[in-house]
Amino acid sequence: MEIPVGHSEKELGFRLESISQLPSTSSTPPASHGSAQFCGLSELRFDLESDPKEAVNFDLRTTQLFKIGRVHSVCMSEGFEASKEKSFSRGITIQFRRETESSAFHCAFEERKKEAIARGESELPNGREPASKSKFDDKIEASSAKMYFHYYGQLLHQQNMLQDYVRTGTYYAAVIENRADFVGRVVVDVGAGSGILSLFAAQAGAKHVYAVEASEMAEYARKLIAGNPLLGQRITVVKGKVEEIDLPEKADIMISEPMGTLLINERMLESYVIARDRFLVPNGKMFPTVGRIHMAPFSDEFLYVEIANKALFWQQQNYYGVDLTPLHGTAFQGYFSQPVVDAFDPRLLVAPAISHVINFSSVKEEDLYEIDIPLKFISSVGTRIHGLACWFDVLFNGSTVPRWLTTAPGAPTTHWYQLRCVLSQPIYVMPGQEITGQLHMIAHNAQSYTIHLTMSAKMWGPGAEQGGILQSSSCKLDLKEPYYRMSQPQAYSMAQDQQPHQLLQTQILSQDEEGSELMQQPSMNSGAELH
Ligand code: SAH
Repeated sequence: MEIPVGHSEKELGFRLESISQLPSTSSTPPASHGSAQFCGLSELRFDLESDPKEAVNFDLRTTQLFKIGRVHSVCMSEGFEASKEKSFSRGITIQFRRETESSAFHCAFEERKKEAIARGESELPNGREPASKSKFDDKIEASSAKMYFHYYGQLLHQQNMLQDYVRTGTYYAAVIENRADFVGRVVVDVGAGSGILSLFAAQAGAKHVYAVEASEMAEYARKLIAGNPLLGQRITVVKGKVEEIDLPEKADIMISEPMGTLLINERMLESYVIARDRFLVPNGKMFPTVGRIHMAPFSDEFLYVEIANKALFWQQQNYYGVDLTPLHGTAFQGYFSQPVVDAFDPRLLVAPAISHVINFSSVKEEDLYEIDIPLKFISSVGTRIHGLACWFDVLFNGSTVPRWLTTAPGAPTTHWYQLRCVLSQPIYVMPGQEITGQLHMIAHNAQSYTIHLTMSAKMWGPGAEQGGILQSSSCKLDLKEPYYRMSQPQAYSMAQDQQPHQLLQTQILSQDEEGSELMQQPSMNSGAELH
């Protein structure tokens, strides 16, 4: 391979068919033959043959290289001009003579950049933060981010999402049916994971797709994309956080799967919105476009008892001679602070659902730090309410076929299931009675939310004539610590009208036999008409 023009150990050079600076204006020099030279510890220099004095220097540590064609690439860098106190970015388009030379240059670039960064990090005095922390680093605890990206860096977790056929199939349909939105367009895939959505966008005729992925999965995405060359030649994988990377051009459309449980878990919606503000052209499309959180009160005696029973362990007064009861109250509250994730029968809902809409095209990132939803329902039945059931859907507002992806109870189950916040103190309602309350969610730095739920209803009976006494129940939950209940038997046809203490005793005395008998009794709620 006839590539190097430099000779020293540190210097490595490549001849270039052409170099032109971005943006190209009347004041920038015209495209010229030239060469690229890796020199020193972290420098990449471009020399223009037409004007040897016009060399352009990049610091490898802050430079990104994008392959935009067989022999074409773009080199971008961000810097900070201390004298003017502002950051700048600049770019250069380069054309190689052959594809082999382009590949060799990209390999050398990756290697040199890695070395330069490693050297830079080791030079930082112990404990000192790098000069510029990103928006992501500012609000997310480093240990949380580390675990998060470690998780997504593993193929098995990407497989889990790919095997959710409701999810992946709906994305596929939404993209392919709306190919008019993709043909000839520049696309950014925010959090590309395995690269699947980028490949769908390329299938739909995208001109170019930038697949941005922060975890080590980016390497696997490169491999998958390289193995599908017909599509892959129009995809560039960019490894890094959307908050931190740069792209050589703006996107006409953005695609992403940023939804966590309850839509907002993982706080990736914020990254989706930041990516929108950084990379999307004005009025560009977003796939998905809108998300909705749906909420309705539910009655589920069996679930309530199951959670309350978990704390029974701490009621033992002689556990190897130790009285455990001092911790019973804490354990009881602890179990009720875990949102329950499972697929439940929609007949457990006791009032029509309400919804909270988040428009991804217009929502501000800060609006997602704290979400406050007033609750108001009319109970369809007389029952005990055990809490609030939540699920979400998202809309792909394609110009040909708008499509919804739903995680509603009763719809085909997804890997998100549904989520229920269970009150440690249930509330009693009569048919037609109003239930009010508040769902208040505050983002925390471990990529999730603290949930404060309050539900209230007026008491009937004595005092009702004077306006009624309010029964109110509140709980605080951590969305980061859910109780995954999917492996439990889904015994929803059991009697929902059992008194909790009866069930508690039944379960303590004879867990299997009596439990299975109970499960055969008809549900009080079945037949409640809801939509
Ligand atoms: N788009 C893929 C993966 C979705 S999971 C699919 O639909 O199958 C979300 C992915 O986004 C994860 O791989 C995660 O590592 C990545 N991600 C999350 N936050 C990110 C950020 N701020 N910047 C870049 N990637 C991010």
